[in-house]
Amino acid sequence: MAHDEREKYLIRYAGDFAPFVVESAEGSWVTTTEGQRILDFTSGQISSTLGHNHPRIVAAVERSLREVIHLNSWMVSEDVLELARRLAGLLPEPLARSILLNTGSETNEIAFRLAKAYTGKFEMVGVTRSFHGLLAGTNSLTYSMGHKGNGPLMPGSFAIPAPYEYRCPIRHCVNACDKLCLDVGFETVDQSSVGSLAAMVVEPVLSTGGIIPLPDGYLAAAKQKCEERDMLLIVDEAQTGFGRVGSMFAFEQDGVVPDILTVSKTLGGGVPLGATVTSAEIEERCADQGFLHITTHVSDPMPAAAGLAVLDVIAEEELVARAAATGEYLFARLRELQERHEEIGDVRGRGLLVGLELVTDRETKEPASALGAAVTSECLRLGLSMNIVKGDGSQTNCLRMAPPLAVTHEEVDTAVDILDRALTNCKK
Ligand code: PMP
Repeated sequence: MAHDEREKYLIRYAGDFAPFVVESAEGSWVTTTEGQRILDFTSGQISSTLGHNHPRIVAAVERSLREVIHLNSWMVSEDVLELARRLAGLLPEPLARSILLNTGSETNEIAFRLAKAYTGKFEMVGVTRSFHGLLAGTNSLTYSMGHKGNGPLMPGSFAIPAPYEYRCPIRHCVNACDKLCLDVGFETVDQSSVGSLAAMVVEPVLSTGGIIPLPDGYLAAAKQKCEERDMLLIVDEAQTGFGRVGSMFAFEQDGVVPDILTVSKTLGGGVPLGATVTSAEIEERCADQGFLHITTHVSDPMPAAAGLAVLDVIAEEELVARAAATGEYLFARLRELQERHEEIGDVRGRGLLVGLELVTDRETKEPASALGAAVTSECLRLGLSMNIVKGDGSQTNCLRMAPPLAVTHEEVDTAVDILDRALTNCKK
């Protein structure tokens, strides 16, 4: 299909589409129908953690499709059972029971439903600059895209200020975040709540919100706030799970076990696969309350087969340690670039989930939004794909790099070199 036909046949789900059509993808690269090779520092939608089209995923999917494509939801296959068993083995107690789903939005919708069934309450607390999905429930807890035109949010949806150290939302922290925003946020929630707080949901790195890692101790403090109010803590590791931040899961870095964990994107390595995982205790009480979640593809073996291949390759290729090491290298290279380009106000992130914030002036920190948009387009022209992340819904000065975990130092050098040239070209 010629790309001028896209607007004739597609709903413009991604806003503006890229100015090319993709033919194939392999490792860290995608190739367009015109033959241009583009270094993909987005891992697709932060999902192709093993690189595009890893042969082990292709083989697992092929094998699985030959055996069984689809099953009724009450029939369980060996791949589904094995993946649930493997997840329980990877996760700390008491996280032991999973439902396998397709997208991140679904995993969070189901987490909300479980929290409501378990607590008998309905109010949900999120964080500004969050992203948990764009379906009706999750959209109410997604504050990084704005809510224009979406009508009333789910009743009882609250947002507390994001712990954004570079631009403290409550103008309090000077150097390091002391998490006062969490206290202040919960005070406001307590004043507005009708006494039905069911859960808090949070990403360990507010990725779409500007690649803002939660400060040390934040998850532990959030868990305590939840316990004081008989709420559950839901941690959304759609992007951070399975090695991207240099540990298997990001919550491990804070020594906290969530009541409900959601994983997606990175679990399927590009194949639609997500999971909502909780404890036996929570699952049993929900079942007693009549909790059901019948959905068409919940028992399909193919995504689970892909997930098993992803877990095998992560272990065999030691991708968690590689992400930590290559992340440090990428970080160091970007810090060098920051020394040469005044416009790079901040470099932040964890592991291989790294962001740059562009400013017109390092003192005033005025967002360099026009430059962010121009640099991203120029990078693409020069052969590097990165994402602008929306921050508070309108921002275009935060750029995200999230390459496959097996990205090489040479590819990192190529990406940093392109970014360097793009910044120079756009400032002329
Ligand atoms: N949670 C997080 C942290 C995400 O980044 C996303 C997707 N950007 C989602 C949930 C929603 O996932 P999906 O697009 O697969 O529904």
